[in-house]
Amino acid sequence: MKYCSKCGAELMDEAVICPKCGCAVGENRPANTTTANSTNGFAIAGFVLAFFFPLLGIIFGAMGISKANKMGGSGKGLAIAAVIISSIATVISFIVFATSFTAIMAYIANEIR
Ligand SMILES: [Zn+2]
Repeated sequence: MKYCSKCGAELMDEAVICPKCGCAVGENRPANTTTANSTNGFAIAGFVLAFFFPLLGIIFGAMGISKANKMGGSGKGLAIAAVIISSIATVISFIVFATSFTAIMAYIANEIR
């Protein structure tokens, strides 16, 4: 005899769907076996750094991706997000820098004249 993991109803051993709540019934393995418990520090660090130090965010994000591949995918989405956010932040800060630089140069050129 096995039991539904959602509602706890008794199930036939060959049952695929719980007759009470309708949820799919898998093998009765513990819920935590498929989710990795280890945290990917590089992915988290990269994600945080992406907002403050985009270049570091790219580096940590890239390390997080390679670490995620070794850890069976743990934190991979976060690491990829870190690289993407870092890249966007780098482009934005470059545009801001270039725009203000152009504005300052234009101002100086006007002052000289
Ligand atoms: Zn159920």
